[in-house]
Amino acid sequence: MITIDQFNFKGEKVLVRVDFNVPLNAGFQITDDSRITATLPTLNKILADGGSVILMSHLGRPKAGPEDKFSLRHILGHLGKLLGKNVHFAPDCIGAEAAAMASGMGAGEVLLLENLRFYKEEEKGDRDFAQKLASLGTFYVNDAFGTAHRAHASTAIIADFFPGKKAFGYVMAREVENADKVMKAPQRPLTAIVGGAKVSDKILIVENLLNVADHIIIGGGMAYTFFKAQGGHIGKSLCEDERLQTCIEILEKAKAKGVSIHLPSDSIIADNFAADANTQNCASDAIPDGWMGLDIGASACNDFNSVLLNSKTILWNGPMGVFEMEAFSTGTRTVAEAVAESTQNGAFSLIGGGDSAAAVHKFGFEDKVSYVSTGGGALLEYFEGKTLPGIAAIVGE
Ligand code: AMP
Repeated sequence: MITIDQFNFKGEKVLVRVDFNVPLNAGFQITDDSRITATLPTLNKILADGGSVILMSHLGRPKAGPEDKFSLRHILGHLGKLLGKNVHFAPDCIGAEAAAMASGMGAGEVLLLENLRFYKEEEKGDRDFAQKLASLGTFYVNDAFGTAHRAHASTAIIADFFPGKKAFGYVMAREVENADKVMKAPQRPLTAIVGGAKVSDKILIVENLLNVADHIIIGGGMAYTFFKAQGGHIGKSLCEDERLQTCIEILEKAKAKGVSIHLPSDSIIADNFAADANTQNCASDAIPDGWMGLDIGASACNDFNSVLLNSKTILWNGPMGVFEMEAFSTGTRTVAEAVAESTQNGAFSLIGGGDSAAAVHKFGFEDKVSYVSTGGGALLEYFEGKTLPGIAAIVGE
């Protein structure tokens, strides 16, 4: 992998694509700065080498040109504090002023460019726009894994202008290395836990995992479409009728490939989608009319635990139930505990973004698993087997 460790940045003006798309409150204060702090090692390495840093990012989803609420100016003060130095700000990410500011930079200086998405050309992957950005620097570093699945001007196209002078930052490198511990040459058995609401959101990932996993645990709302597909009664549980055939095909493919699919044998069912609903435990394929499965049951927890405790590599994406409500959080918490215990016994565990990351944080397990990805959509696409443009742009040369 081509990382910044293989270069010395003395005298370079390094364009670094970061993901500073941080949440801001009504007073434009940052409510969670973890995306910024994550990039500090990358920025500090470049600065310590004697390079200068030109930061490129997006913030929010501006629709038509500049809007003050999406200005990266709001993060300038906090960024300066974190870096321990004054950060210059270019009020337009391209153009004469940005060019003058960039060319006047000395070693150890940092310049933040205004929101890239004030130009529609960014998301369109416009080549001229990418070239204008590229003209500001002498080296390109991508450290924005969250946008690696997009072929935007600053995440992919720009790399064409830096033959031999482009690399992954540490955030990006760590994400790819950890994802590869699962996808390429994993320690076996490899177990993937896939949960969440919909089969349709997870279908591509399950299909691709059939090529690498030994076990696939399926929980959450998506499990009920599998039960119905096999003739089970699921009451008013979540179901995608148009995916019934897909579920049968997945089960058949798994059998042919020797992959064990584990569905939750029992469920916590409720008479209402509410925190204070009446609940009972029930076989997942015999749910009475008017009731719905909102969590996996005790037997399912036991089954899943024994698979997880015998695994050497674990990938987890998606909760086992409606974990946001206490009454339906036991399954997700129990699986988190089993993943933590397996990790303590030497397994490698990767928690893939979104709701599973939220669940791991909620239950306080983030330090007990091997890695919690920040990737969201990018990580999912990686596990779906797709080539991510942001990775290909660096590696593909
Ligand atoms: P996803 O974004 O597809 O990973 O889905 C996560 C969401 O699925 C969470 O908000 C859960 O509350 C929800 N969920 C999980 N299990 C169920 C279930 N059995 N019924 C309804 N929603 C569920």
